[in-house]
Amino acid sequence: MLDLEESLEWLRSEGLHRRMRVVSSPQGPSVLLDGRPVLLLCSNNYLGLADHPNVRRAASEAASRWGASAGSSRLISGHMGPHAELEDSLADLHGAPSALLFGSGYLANTGTIPALAGRDEVVFSDELNHASLIDGCRLARAETFIYRHADVDHLEWGLRKAGGRAALIVSDSVFSMDGDVAPLERLAELAERHGCRLMVDEAHATGCVGPGGRGVVAEAGLDDRVDVIVGTLGKSLGGYGAYVCGSAQLTDYLLNTARPFIFSTALPPPVVAAAQAAIEVLLSRPKRVERLQANATTLREALRAEGLRLGESETQIVPLLVGEADDAMALCEGALARGVFAQAIRPPTVAAGTCRLRLTTMATHRVNDLRKAASVLGEVARDLGLASASAPPRRDNVVPLRRVA
Ligand SMILES: *Cc1c(COP(=O)(O)O)cnc(C)c1O
Repeated sequence: MLDLEESLEWLRSEGLHRRMRVVSSPQGPSVLLDGRPVLLLCSNNYLGLADHPNVRRAASEAASRWGASAGSSRLISGHMGPHAELEDSLADLHGAPSALLFGSGYLANTGTIPALAGRDEVVFSDELNHASLIDGCRLARAETFIYRHADVDHLEWGLRKAGGRAALIVSDSVFSMDGDVAPLERLAELAERHGCRLMVDEAHATGCVGPGGRGVVAEAGLDDRVDVIVGTLGKSLGGYGAYVCGSAQLTDYLLNTARPFIFSTALPPPVVAAAQAAIEVLLSRPKRVERLQANATTLREALRAEGLRLGESETQIVPLLVGEADDAMALCEGALARGVFAQAIRPPTVAAGTCRLRLTTMATHRVNDLRKAASVLGEVARDLGLASASAPPRRDNVVPLRRVA
């Protein structure tokens, strides 16, 4: 039997032990963390909608009108007016014929991939895909081919080997820990050429990137060439839950086959109404999206001016690459002591040797606060003597490429 204390001790000794910090304020651009006000630089509440007055009001009115729970899964008696309305809005947002709500992005991905890739088929997955996509591949009865990050040649090699067994290519559009963007045009070409579907996870793109925040698929004009779009309501849309967009046939198929959809309680009406209100703010205030990206540019430039090493980010996700877990934790704690909160990200979320502070901007950050935060991070990194400012990234520990049975 597994010795829990020994396992915890091992995590501590490797600098990989995690704990939760209590936020005792709403999710604004700054928060009360363990009782102290800090600038929040690691939230996915990119547009600041989680505590937007319209969103709060919609949630509380829905709680009064519809109650706190949907009471069952959608297929039993949990499909209510607000769910149907929200699915229409989400389909419109993505220019798709149809949308289907799921309990969360994790559930959407772990439900959709196994539904679309069966025994004797192959799923192709970028090595830096989000854990929920990885777990979707693990749950599918299909084989998984993990291609090197954004490497379309490696992907094509795998597709050729798989031949008629190729079922699905899956990729984040904006990569969650690096902030770079997938080569979607090339992925669409390959999916078409090899007769398989393309599934794109826009969790960090919806509300952040593309025309009016409609995501990378819309920005690249690929609406008609991507079979499955996944989005979450828990990030820029400031709520909770997730959805899959695609053809009416796709959503009909998923509601009949995706197990996390069938066997889990529908989203609560207040949560659904909050997302509806968030979409209305997104559509009526496109300047928020511009402000988010302008803030990201400000932060990247200020960090570079400090000599800090960033990844290839083109978005609101700005990885400050450190390397070892202990160093990343020290930088995190040092910045926190000076009022800047950016959580250190360690394995298994990222590969060993690529630990980082994953900084994220919000539309509601003030430019001066971002500049100040960059100088705090620069000073703390120098005080700690972190070589991260100039050293090249270590690649020796990157996740090995493998085929997973
Ligand atoms: C956060 C995230 C998810 C999970 O979404 P939740 O709604 O938080 O469960 C899925 N995919 C990606 C790329 C993500 O970053």
